[in-house]
Amino acid sequence: MYNEKKNFFSKSETEKVNLLDLDYKAMQSFVLSIGGKNFTTKQIMKWIYNFYYNDFNLMSNLKKETRKKLHEKAYIYATNFSEEKISSDGTIKWITSINNQKIETVYIPEKKRSTLCISSQIGCFLNCKFCATGQQGFNRNLTVSEIISQIWQANKILKEKRKKCITNVVFMGMGEPLFNIKNVISSIKIILDKHGFSLSKRRVTLSTSGVVPALEKLRKVIDINLAISLHAPNNFIRDKIMPINKKYKIESFLKAVSKYLKCSSANRGGVTVEYVMLKNINDSNHNAFELAHLLKKIPSKINLIPWNFFKGANFICSTLNRINIFASILRKKGFNTTIRKNRGQDINAACGQLTGNVINKNIDNYI
Ligand code: SAH
Ligand code: SF4
Repeated sequence: MYNEKKNFFSKSETEKVNLLDLDYKAMQSFVLSIGGKNFTTKQIMKWIYNFYYNDFNLMSNLKKETRKKLHEKAYIYATNFSEEKISSDGTIKWITSINNQKIETVYIPEKKRSTLCISSQIGCFLNCKFCATGQQGFNRNLTVSEIISQIWQANKILKEKRKKCITNVVFMGMGEPLFNIKNVISSIKIILDKHGFSLSKRRVTLSTSGVVPALEKLRKVIDINLAISLHAPNNFIRDKIMPINKKYKIESFLKAVSKYLKCSSANRGGVTVEYVMLKNINDSNHNAFELAHLLKKIPSKINLIPWNFFKGANFICSTLNRINIFASILRKKGFNTTIRKNRGQDINAACGQLTGNVINKNIDNYI
C-alpha cells in the first residue's frame, strides 16, 4: 500500500537512498551492498512499480533481515501532486510543489492511449521567445525521483480512479531534457525496464531544442522516439526565436539527428519535427518550401503546432487557413504532415504554456 505519512521524511532519511532515484543497475548494486540477492532487486522493483507500495514492512516476500537493512539505508518517496486542474476536453494538469516552486505534468487521454507529458527541469534557461516556460527562467534540474514520481503518481491515481495506466510518456513538459541528460537517461531506463514501468521504446518520446553534444551522447546509450523543436526553416529565423541556435546551428543539429536515426529502431517512421506556426515569422509559402528542402535527406514526420498564447508574448498564431496551406505544400513535397490538436488550453496545459512558479537563479553562464 502507499502510505501518505511516508511522504514526510525526516532529516536522517535525507541521508538515506530514495529508491525512486535508482535505475535497475544502481538498485542492483545497492541491494547487493546491503546483503540482498540479485532477485531481491526484482522483487523490490515489482513492489514499487507494479503495486505502488512505499512501505518496506508490506513487501511480504522480502526476508526480515533485508527489510531491516532497507529501513536503515533507504526509503521510497514520490513527490506528490499538490493541485489538479481538469480541462473540458479531459486533459488533466497536475502541479507538484518542490521547495516553494512548481512543476507541471499533463495527462492527455485519447481513445487508444493515455499520454503523460512530463517535466525534466524547474523552468528552462533556453529562453525560446515563443515559450512560456522559457520566458519564466530556470531554477534547477529535476532529480531522477522527481521525474519518475510524475509517472508513479499519475499511474497510482489512474489505476485507482479509472482502472487505467499511462501508455505513452513524452518529455515535452517544462525544461530541456538534454540539459539534464544524466537524470533523464536514468529515468528513461526505469520507464523502459521490464521491472520498472515497462513501456516500449516506441512509446517514449524525448523532445529537444537541439543540444548537439548531448544528442550525440544519447545515441550511444538509449534508443527512444525523438522529436525535435525545429520551428524555423533557416538559421536567420531560428537565431531570432531560439537563442540555442546561436550555439548549435541547424546543420549540426540535423547532422546529429541523422546519426541518431541511423542507429535507432524506435524511430522507424523518422524523427518528429515540431514546427510552431507563428504569423508572419515562419509561416510563408517560401518558408514551407525552405523547410521541405532542409529536411529532404532526413526521414521525418512534420507536426505543425498552432502557437499557444500566453500573457506578455509578442506573437500571433498563424491563421488556420495559412497552416493548412503550409501543410499542403509539405505534403505535396512528400512529407507526412499533421497539425497538432491543442489539448488543455482552458487550463493552460497546452504546449509551451507550462509555467509553475520558478525562482530564478543566475542563468548567464548556461549557454
Ligand atoms: N525543451 C524541449 C521540450 C519541450 S517540448 C523542446 O523545446 O523540445 C514542448 C514543445 O512545445 C516544443 O516543441 C516547444 O518548442 C513547443 N512550444 C513551446 N512554446 C509553445 C507555444 N507557446 N505554443 C506552441 N508550442 C510551443
Ligand atoms: Fe526550453 Fe523547450 Fe521552451 Fe525552448 S521550447 S524555452 S527549450 S522548454
